[in-house]
Amino acid sequence: MKKAVFVYSPEQLGYKFSDTHPFNHKRLTLTMDLLKNIGALDDVDIVPARIATEEELLLAHDPKYIEIVKSAGHGKLSEAQCASYGIGTEDTPIFKNMHEASAQLVGGTLTAVDYVMEGKAEHALNLGGGLHHGFRGRASGFCIYNDSTVAIRYLQDKYKARVLYVDTDAHHGDGVQWSFYDDPDVCTLSIHETGRYLFPGTGNITERGNGQGYGTSFNFPIDAFTEDDSFLDIYEQAMREVFEFFKPDVVLTQNGADAHYFDPLTHLYGTMNIYKEIPKLAHKLAHEYCDGKWIAVGGGGYDIWRVVPRAWSMLWLEMTNQEIPTGPLPQAWLERWQPEAPVPFIPTWEDPNPLYEPIPRKAEIEEKNAQMLEKALHIIRTEKRS
Ligand SMILES: [Zn+2]
Ligand SMILES: [Zn+2]
Repeated sequence: MKKAVFVYSPEQLGYKFSDTHPFNHKRLTLTMDLLKNIGALDDVDIVPARIATEEELLLAHDPKYIEIVKSAGHGKLSEAQCASYGIGTEDTPIFKNMHEASAQLVGGTLTAVDYVMEGKAEHALNLGGGLHHGFRGRASGFCIYNDSTVAIRYLQDKYKARVLYVDTDAHHGDGVQWSFYDDPDVCTLSIHETGRYLFPGTGNITERGNGQGYGTSFNFPIDAFTEDDSFLDIYEQAMREVFEFFKPDVVLTQNGADAHYFDPLTHLYGTMNIYKEIPKLAHKLAHEYCDGKWIAVGGGGYDIWRVVPRAWSMLWLEMTNQEIPTGPLPQAWLERWQPEAPVPFIPTWEDPNPLYEPIPRKAEIEEKNAQMLEKALHIIRTEKRS
């Protein structure tokens, strides 16, 4: 069995709103080129993403919505005609063949699922996926089809699996959470910047699930300006306790890379250190609880030059048990891409230390996050004691 496969097809780059839109899958090219430059990604590791079928998309989406996405992408609808479906908005504009490109991102995640569940690879990565804001009948926050929701339903139908979904994107994983809010066999865990000032506004600790699914939705909203230590403290305690509580068959992680200090859309103060540590613990727990079954997808990440290629490279290196390099990035990679980048690259794997001026409210933020964690885990901590 292979350690891990890297799912990718050039067609995934067709998911493109415009040249100036913050969501830019050039990130995939930059990441793959960085990995190839250090000899950490071979052509034999790469498997093509298939395109999701209509039947598969229907696992998560309304037929009418799929029709709208198709028609819009084929130039048959005006913005006004699809606005109520979240398409043709400023966030999620219409682009050519948007159905086909979106279905290719979903297909990539399904390819990853099949590799892992059929035992052809221990772990599988689809960086093109992670579109966690997609709803049943509406696009939202740059996300058209929700590949994770489709993949989790597919894992349930085809493989009868109990799934833990872990979302470390700086935004709340709302689309996936609401899809499984009533379902006791899917657990969702999202750590994100509090929705007080950030899209999508949800992800409060009080969102715990509904009916049969009550107690299988976990949210860890952290304060703006949260730094590495507090982020990782929350992440590590949440992961260990939720894994032990839910005991999943398989874990799907969403690896948005927008909690970094440089990210232009959020207000968290993470550094590369969190992108080294996040996959490390997910990997360890996947082996402890799930016989290694770990599927990982991408997500947000809007500093596509200085942050995402390094962060996502670290994810793949962890999945394949390769050492994370220290020191300078390959000169060839820097020389190839610097002319296109609007900002000077960070030329090393680590961020400079310090990366920013000290934050006066540091202790207060850490304390608030710790109190939030206690409340969010209270439901399982009390159960354990009794
Ligand atoms: Zn492993
Ligand atoms: Zn995000």
